Amino acid sequence: MTETKQIIHPDKDRFLGDENPFEQMMSRFDVAASLLKLDPGLYKVLRNPEKQVIVSLPVMMDSGETEVFTGYRVLYNTSRGPAKGGIRFDLGVTLDEVRALAAWMTWKCAVVNIPFGGSKGGVICDPLSMSPGELERLTRRYTASLIAILGPDSDVPAPDVNTNERVMAWIMDTYSMHKRHTVTSVVTGKPLEMGGSAGRREATGRGCMIMAREALAHLGRSLKGSKVVVQGFGNVGSIAAQLLQQEGAVVVGVSDVSGGLYREGGLDVNDVIAWREAHRYVAGYPKADPVKNEEFLTLPCDVLLPAALENQITKRNAADIKAKVIIEGANGPTAAAADEILDRKGVFVVPDILANAGGVTVSYFEWVQDRDGYFWTEEVVNQRLEEIMVRSFRHVLEMSQKHQVNMRIGAYTLAIQRVAAVHKLRGMYA
Ligand code: NAD
Repeated sequence: MTETKQIIHPDKDRFLGDENPFEQMMSRFDVAASLLKLDPGLYKVLRNPEKQVIVSLPVMMDSGETEVFTGYRVLYNTSRGPAKGGIRFDLGVTLDEVRALAAWMTWKCAVVNIPFGGSKGGVICDPLSMSPGELERLTRRYTASLIAILGPDSDVPAPDVNTNERVMAWIMDTYSMHKRHTVTSVVTGKPLEMGGSAGRREATGRGCMIMAREALAHLGRSLKGSKVVVQGFGNVGSIAAQLLQQEGAVVVGVSDVSGGLYREGGLDVNDVIAWREAHRYVAGYPKADPVKNEEFLTLPCDVLLPAALENQITKRNAADIKAKVIIEGANGPTAAAADEILDRKGVFVVPDILANAGGVTVSYFEWVQDRDGYFWTEEVVNQRLEEIMVRSFRHVLEMSQKHQVNMRIGAYTLAIQRVAAVHKLRGMYA
């Protein structure tokens, strides 16, 4: 018999105390709920996820050994429509993190006013050390374990950290095999050939670019010539950097898990992407200065775009940040304790639940197209994305001005108001 090993969380204390992502989310939720004078019953409802599932996933590794991975799926709130949220493969995944990400998805879908609730999934694994075959077997087992929850009308996954179109294709295939017919709309972020949407891969980065442009315009400035630093050089960060450069911004710094790069006169983003494709990481790129990740966020720039993981801007580094505008490409990159420091410094922060909502917006377009069986051109997708992002920026700005709060609390207030309105209309089934 082959040995069976349980993979446990190697870094389970990563989010203790004030850095627990769910607590971070809740501390902002509480401020917005009190501004809205939220009904106490509804307050209790919205502080709790609707459903939390933990699955053990036996997977045959290439060596012939069986490993058992732990997976999560949290449906935070489905009052406005089917749950929507990505799947993350990472060693740092925790239930608290997935719960926070599911709540953020709920607020995000409400901020951009698309008819979805929020969910998120994660599997504790190190995808970079796994073969494509191992990843495929893990993905299929995870999908099969959640078969009763997933569905175009109930819960629709998408890519997140370390998952991509390939993984989405396996999810769609596994789900369809169980249902005995092809169901494209069960997942978004799929390859174009099998029901994906034009513009989906670029959507989150494009939304970030639009938010940077709107934020600078609000401050009487322009993207042209503005210096930008981007943390995280994956789907969101590298595409945002590319589009920002196309719009005339000067990308002076980029980083990934291997380290950072800085060039005062500006990097050639396409050249750095080519280097990453050839060498897996940005480290070692010869035409820029290397920067340690600890120093990266405090580099001189006009716009900082964190697009990696949670809790990167904290009370330890917030005071040293030079950017005038922060566009949160990542979910939860700013710890709650840093908000006040950034406010005092007059930094204009476009919060995650608005800044990175381009991805879920085009996921919504993909779901609509799959259900219709009729596909839009990239121009139509981009134009509709532009309309939704610009309108949502204006709504959040108006809310923040009305309540005299920053953009983050403005966004939470708008989202909670919209979710609460539906709860009130639907009433309580008790
Ligand atoms: P990805 O896996 O494609 O890229 C993540 C990048 O972050 C990689 O370049 C990685 O090396 C880097 N990274 C990891 N740890 C780092 C560290 N400590 N310092 C610097 N860089 C580090 O993931 P992604 O899809 O681009 O997601 C990035 C963030 O954006 C996540 O917070 C995710 O939840 C959020 N997000 C993604 C989407 C989407 O459509 N993909 C949508 C909304 C929000």
